Amino acid sequence: MADPASPAADPALTLTSLEDYRALIGEQAVERILAKAERLHDVHVLNVNSTYYGGGVAEILASLTLLMNAAGIKTGWRVIQGRPDFFSVTKKMHNALQGADIEMTDLKTQIYEEVAYENSVRNHIDHDVVIVHDPQPLPLIRHYRRRAPWIWRCHVDMSRPNPGLWSYLSPFVEEYDAVVFSLPEYAQKLTTPQRFITPAINPFSTTNKALSDSEIDERLSRYGIPTDLPLVVQVSRFDKWKDPHGVIDAVKLARTQVDCRLVLVGNVATDDPEGQEVFASLCDCADDRIIILSVQDSALVNALQRRAAVVLQKSIREGFGLTVTEAMWKGAAVIGGRAGGIRRQIEDGVNGFLVGSIEEAADRIVLLLKDRELAKRLGDAAQESVRRHFLMSRLMEEWLDLIGSFRTEFHLLSGASA
Ligand code: UDP
Repeated sequence: MADPASPAADPALTLTSLEDYRALIGEQAVERILAKAERLHDVHVLNVNSTYYGGGVAEILASLTLLMNAAGIKTGWRVIQGRPDFFSVTKKMHNALQGADIEMTDLKTQIYEEVAYENSVRNHIDHDVVIVHDPQPLPLIRHYRRRAPWIWRCHVDMSRPNPGLWSYLSPFVEEYDAVVFSLPEYAQKLTTPQRFITPAINPFSTTNKALSDSEIDERLSRYGIPTDLPLVVQVSRFDKWKDPHGVIDAVKLARTQVDCRLVLVGNVATDDPEGQEVFASLCDCADDRIIILSVQDSALVNALQRRAAVVLQKSIREGFGLTVTEAMWKGAAVIGGRAGGIRRQIEDGVNGFLVGSIEEAADRIVLLLKDRELAKRLGDAAQESVRRHFLMSRLMEEWLDLIGSFRTEFHLLSGASA
């Protein structure tokens, strides 16, 4: 009899499964990952974060949760709800974890902890593994009797967290069974075991799947984006750490030497109250060579990354830039800010360029627009490096390994193979 908790398969609708990765990662890798999934098939996993869309965490969860389910592991995803004042506090915390100042007043901690408590009352969590993403839902753990491994997955750039904030948050973190950061450089002084897993992309998603030239044309013309000049593109949430004003200045400087058009596309995540303000501050800079678009359209992101002569991600802080990997996967010539995870994603001069200033970014834009062979060489190397290191199949395997490591401690498996 069908499991009443699982929907019946619909032959008209297909999900990406690990088998689809065969041509990209090979038969052996697919079989190895499926065998690991099989050993965990009884395990019920829950992810908790704070937004359904906008930003890399939602992008990853949208794909990874389905891929895990397709491999037979029941994997859920819940989003906490919060009032605007909660998200205003958590955005300040996010900024401070990336190094900004914050004044941790009693009012802020009260709002933060109150909303976490309210969400714990609403969410009945009885899973075998609970993965909590980023600081917004971090205190949830306080309100459950813990009988399963709880893992805190922190996606932000933790190169230099604000010490005051970190001393407030770390007691929550230390209640978890493990912490996962994106890079070893983000390790903190904690009693909790720390693991490091770099994010990854789904090559079959709307953002990343192959597009024909006519599909790209159609998508660009829908937004009135002319293609008479080479396109320089940055795609990112409207956030100061993505340095959108620096992008505009770099392109203006480059344009003194070579003609091009900038397209800056962004969105505003539901848990990010600062996005509108950043967007508004950019609109004054728009002209016929600087297009600023605030839309949520993954097919447009895909088309732009494919058509761009140069893709920029001039971030000043970046836990791991999914947009960098997305563009590299499409064979784009990518220029990234020398920050956080981008330094791991791009090997300077081999599969893209790393830059530390507006002038450097402008120089690289000019170089890539003038030397299309170089752009092609870097783009080809970029695509291969994503295939080897940053596809979601690898991310899923690392999660399976981590979940599997709790097997004995938490009796995660009922079967003899446990
Ligand atoms: N994204 C999008 N539309 C936008 C801006 C971003 O779909 O206008 C997507 C982008 O393709 C990527 C994610 O949002 O998948 C952003 O992830 P990233 O790690 O680059 O940055 P974050 O927002 O998490 O800091």
